[in-house]
Amino acid sequence: MQSFRCVQGERKKMNFHSYPSVLLENVVNELSMLPSVGRKTALRLALYLLRQDEQQAAALGKAIVDFRHQVHYCSECHNISDTDRCAICSDSRRDHTTVCVVEHIGDVMAIENTQQYRGVYHVLGGIISPMNGISPSDLQIASLIERVAAGSVREVILALNADIESDTTCFYIYKKLSPHTVKLTTIARGIAVGDTLEYADEITLGRSIVNRVAFSLSSEIKTDELK
Ligand SMILES: [Zn+2]
Repeated sequence: MQSFRCVQGERKKMNFHSYPSVLLENVVNELSMLPSVGRKTALRLALYLLRQDEQQAAALGKAIVDFRHQVHYCSECHNISDTDRCAICSDSRRDHTTVCVVEHIGDVMAIENTQQYRGVYHVLGGIISPMNGISPSDLQIASLIERVAAGSVREVILALNADIESDTTCFYIYKKLSPHTVKLTTIARGIAVGDTLEYADEITLGRSIVNRVAFSLSSEIKTDELK
């Protein structure tokens, strides 16, 4: 029985360390550091790259190195940029009196994809999280207060996630902005398009009732058909 256990243990060990090349193992180790990439996926990606033209792997490596070395952050909103001020902050057609506060650069891209927002942004770079040792001074909150204190901002939209740490961050910003004359809003929380009320979670449904809005006709409804 004992020898059987040993064989199983050896087999497990072999599976874990059975890379035929240290170079391959290094690539797997690095790729599996990426979010949502496990060691199996990392191995599949590494072997895929091995099958491709060498130039393709070189281009991938160069793109990553260039990205890390050369990328800039906008001096105004901290969005990712190739220049000192990002394309959004440099666009005079945008409404510079409305600032949408988001946690990450990915949130800017998500809101831009809706094509519904014409204001500008402020990327915090995270949220206040004492558990993870992230304090307000680690985030771009002071520069947000400076932007508002400069006087041209009329509305700040807090577009953070719906969780306790985001709520804490919103409250901190609210306290910091309270001496300034600026309208503070948050994005609406509620039932998603296509969701069924019966299956919505209690918090979402509760917020939808509390934050109800005046009825207005959706542009998708063809009123002619109702006559
Ligand atoms: Zn910017």
